[in-house]
Amino acid sequence: MQKPKIALYWCSSCGGCEESIIDLAEDILEIAEKIEIVFWPVALDFKYKDVEMLEDKEIIASFINGAIWTDEQEQIARLLRKKSRLVIAHGTCAHLGGVVGLANFYSRKDIFNRVYKQVPSVKNPQGILPGHSNFHERVKSLSQVIDVDYYVPGCPPPPMLLKDAILSILQKDLPPKGSVFGDKRALCYTCSRLETKPDDLKINEFKRLYEIEYDSKICFLNQGIICLGPATRGGCKERCIKANMPCRGCFGPTDNVKDQGAKLISAFASMIDTNNELELNKIVDSIPDPAGLFYRYSLASSILNGKFEYKT
Ligand code: SF4
Ligand code: SF4
Repeated sequence: MQKPKIALYWCSSCGGCEESIIDLAEDILEIAEKIEIVFWPVALDFKYKDVEMLEDKEIIASFINGAIWTDEQEQIARLLRKKSRLVIAHGTCAHLGGVVGLANFYSRKDIFNRVYKQVPSVKNPQGILPGHSNFHERVKSLSQVIDVDYYVPGCPPPPMLLKDAILSILQKDLPPKGSVFGDKRALCYTCSRLETKPDDLKINEFKRLYEIEYDSKICFLNQGIICLGPATRGGCKERCIKANMPCRGCFGPTDNVKDQGAKLISAFASMIDTNNELELNKIVDSIPDPAGLFYRYSLASSILNGKFEYKT
């Protein structure tokens, strides 16, 4: 009997999502017994023509990680969509644009100049740039390019979440189309420090981790340290909090939130404890790089995207 066919593909990402597959460790053997991998360029020597030769919808599921930034990525994403019954956005960059999406704060021209000419470690006396046509002006999340059936969030996704998604597909026990694997509630609800988070949290200064000796049992926000748990989907088993690091929001927004950055800004604005404008500015100034912080993972898919001037 033929095994269900699975494809895996890597667009604009750091490679961490591919690692999350390897991090399945011995579980990968259990999964490998049940499936046939028909495309996985980072690990196996398949060619694009191998996918082109498959029947439409012959692949049971394609796991695509990374944001879409080039012609080639868009072309292969479309090909996999055509050949697959299900497409899963694997990891935060495919889900929301991810860190790669922060490139949307700049024009393509500025990025190329910076990367290929101005970075101190670059030696490029003739100022040669790669061909522009292949790179898109804007980074997109996967669902901004093709129809996506499910999302596995995380930067990178925890291997167990990935295993759950694969087994759900194989057992035909899937949630409604469009679901994000993970918790429906915000991270705070399952955080072991929740009891130390006051309901009426008031903050008059944001501190950075290196500035204070912080308590590993008390809610970060209660210590004035920015933690994005209040407006981030749970389901990662609080892996950063358990390592005594605040959440940075990689699981994206919960189901009922359209724009994670806007939700975070609103949540933090309600915590700031002053009506004095000068003091307010001082408190806001103690948040380093607010745009990069609140939109770190979701700029490309946010309501802001395309609605601001490029920095020059
Ligand atoms: S703000 Fe952070 S540390 Fe505090 S309860 Fe929420 S997730 Fe936990
Ligand atoms: S704690 Fe936050 S940043 Fe860390 S893995 Fe979980 S969702 Fe991502």
